[in-house]
Amino acid sequence: MNKKIRIVIAGPRGKMGSEAVNMVNSVSNFELVGLIDKKHGVNGNVPIFTDIVDCIKETKPDVLVDLTVPEAAFYHGKSALQAGIKVVMGTTGLTSEELNELKRLSIENKTGCIIAPNFAIGAVLMMKFSQMAAKYYQDVEILEMHHDQKLDAPSGTAIKTAEMIKLERMAKKQGHPNEKENLKGSRGADFDGMRIHSVRLPGLVAHQQVMFGSTGETLTIRHDSYNRTSFMTGVKLSVETVMNLDDYVYGLENIID
Ligand code: NAP
Repeated sequence: MNKKIRIVIAGPRGKMGSEAVNMVNSVSNFELVGLIDKKHGVNGNVPIFTDIVDCIKETKPDVLVDLTVPEAAFYHGKSALQAGIKVVMGTTGLTSEELNELKRLSIENKTGCIIAPNFAIGAVLMMKFSQMAAKYYQDVEILEMHHDQKLDAPSGTAIKTAEMIKLERMAKKQGHPNEKENLKGSRGADFDGMRIHSVRLPGLVAHQQVMFGSTGETLTIRHDSYNRTSFMTGVKLSVETVMNLDDYVYGLENIID
C-alpha cells in the first residue's frame, strides 16, 4: 500500500481552511496530522499548534497547506521550507519580496513549493482557453462578477486573464473610434484596448465570462465558482503535485497540462 501523505493545515477555522480540512479527511491517501491555529487544542484526534515550528517537530508532516493571512503565511511558508517541508500556499496578498524569499528557500533547500492565487481548476482553464482564443479574435470583453463584499476591482483573475490574452492578441483599441461614454464607466476599464467590467451583487460568489466577437459570431468562455469547495480540487492536485517537486511553482496553470 502507498504511504499516506502527511498534511498540516494552517487556518483550519477559516472559510477556505475548513473546506480543506474536509477535503483532506475525505481523501484516502491523505492524512491530517496537525493544525496550526491561534488557539491550542485538539480537533477530533488532530492536535492543534499555535506555532509551526512545534507543529513540524511533533507531527513530521510531508506538506503544509496554508490558508491564513499574509503575515502568518509568510512565517509558516518560510519555517516549513527551512525544515524541508513542502508547501502549498493558497493565502493571497504576500509581497513580491516575500514571494521571492519563499522561492529562494524552495530552490536552495530543494523543497517543493506551490503558490496558487486561484485554486479553481475551471478558472485556470478559462484563462488558458481565453488565451488560446485570443490568437484568432482581436475583440474581447471580460465580465467578472463577484459578491458585494469584495474589496478590489477588477478581480485578480480578470487582470491575469487580460495579461494572458495580451500575450496572443494583436493590440487593438476596441469599439467605435468615436465612441463616447454618456455615463462615465459604462464601457468598463481599458486594458490594452480590451474592456473589463466588474459586477458586484449579493448572491454571487466568483464568476467570469470572457466574450470574443468577430464577423457574424461570438464566442463566450465562462466559469462559475458557486462556493469554496470549487477550490478544493486545486488544493488536492497541488498537494499531490508538490510531493514530486523539489522547486518553486507560482500559479496552478503551471501544473495543469
Ligand atoms: P478567513 O475565513 O478569514 O480565514 C483565515 C483564517 O486564518 C482564520 O481562521 C484566521 O483566524 C486564521 N489565522 C489568522 N492568523 C493566523 C495565524 N497566525 N495562525 C493560524 N491561523 C491564523 O479567510 P478565507 O476566505 O478562508 O481565506 C484565507 C486566504 O485564502 C486569504 O488569503 C484568501 O485571499 C485566500 N483565498 C485563496 C483562494 C485560492 O484559490 N487560492 C481562494 C479563496 C481565498 P482568526 O479568524 O481567529 O483571525
